[in-house]
Amino acid sequence: MPRRMVGSRFYKEMPPITIKPVRWNASFRGFKRPSVYSICGIKDSGKSMLNEALALRHPMILDLMASRDNESLCWLRDTSPIDDALLIVGDNVDLDCSWDYKHVSDVTLHDILSHEVTVTCNSFYHNDAEKFRGVQVLTNLLYGRLGWRAGHLLFIIIRESNSFLYSRTKQGIKMKDAKADFIFFTRELRHFGCSVGIDLLRWTGTDRDLRDNSEFTIFKQVGSKGLPTDKKYLYSYFHPFVFAQMRPWQFVLERADGSLGWGRCPNLKFHKEEGVNLLAELGITVEMGAMVIEATMNKLGDREHEDIVKSYIDMDPKSMAKLGKIKHLSSSTISSHIAKHNREIKKFGKCGICDRVGSPISKTPAFNPRFTNRL
Ligand SMILES: [Zn+2]
Repeated sequence: MPRRMVGSRFYKEMPPITIKPVRWNASFRGFKRPSVYSICGIKDSGKSMLNEALALRHPMILDLMASRDNESLCWLRDTSPIDDALLIVGDNVDLDCSWDYKHVSDVTLHDILSHEVTVTCNSFYHNDAEKFRGVQVLTNLLYGRLGWRAGHLLFIIIRESNSFLYSRTKQGIKMKDAKADFIFFTRELRHFGCSVGIDLLRWTGTDRDLRDNSEFTIFKQVGSKGLPTDKKYLYSYFHPFVFAQMRPWQFVLERADGSLGWGRCPNLKFHKEEGVNLLAELGITVEMGAMVIEATMNKLGDREHEDIVKSYIDMDPKSMAKLGKIKHLSSSTISSHIAKHNREIKKFGKCGICDRVGSPISKTPAFNPRFTNRL
């Protein structure tokens, strides 16, 4: 019988995850259908490691939201079974390393699907706003995956879901909306051939909604806080000591159909240890270019500037008033951006704003042939 392959890996050679059924027949069902895996537990309870072990059982992995310590780069280590990796970096960030990398604005769905692991990490962005935009661009790409071969799933790793939600509130989005979006996002992804592994830390309302939405809920060590109220029934199957003190390689699995299991997953050799600087270990140098300025509530950002100028260049006949109507901006805003663009080109040979977003029009002045003296 041919050996089952997952990506370039043999299924049999993977770190074994074993599950002993405790109530009915609990198992992971062979990882063949898009599912949501919620992993609950305190810090250092081995949540990330289990998330990585689950990811390994899928042919493609997208390590989407990394913690501050760039944990997601562990896939690039020599001890990792995966060689084929693509790094995603912020616009105007360059890397000096031996792996392929792409700027977030240039990434396509094909790029993600043609690599075994696609990784992005905290150090590849200027700030949280830019990182979050990157995450949004990548997730929007996934919605373009309308069909897929059976079993050809993409596994998305979301580490530290709470800090992700918090970073969204800093973008001016209300916590309630950020949570609703996040739950919607995890629910929708299964229609696009994606499984999601989320790690959860606190017993909040969002966590409960996410758990209710998961095919597989996994409990690691929960420490002194104990189980959330709606899961207290598990104490009649497992001793409370188990949840308070279990080791990083142990877990309790609860499936949406009510079956329960006692699981073990070995420590992964390539998982990041505490205190290790993976950028230094892997020899990756990050070169930060000028940062793209994003739009705020009352000010347009670099991308909007580029969009205005580009639309004006492409417009025929040119009219700032008309363009203003299309873009829902005043014609004086349009005029000031075009004047600024032209002024920069005249002074420095290129528009610094358009250059920051890597636009091909950074050296093209935008003028109306009827008023050539405007330049
Ligand atoms: Zn410009």
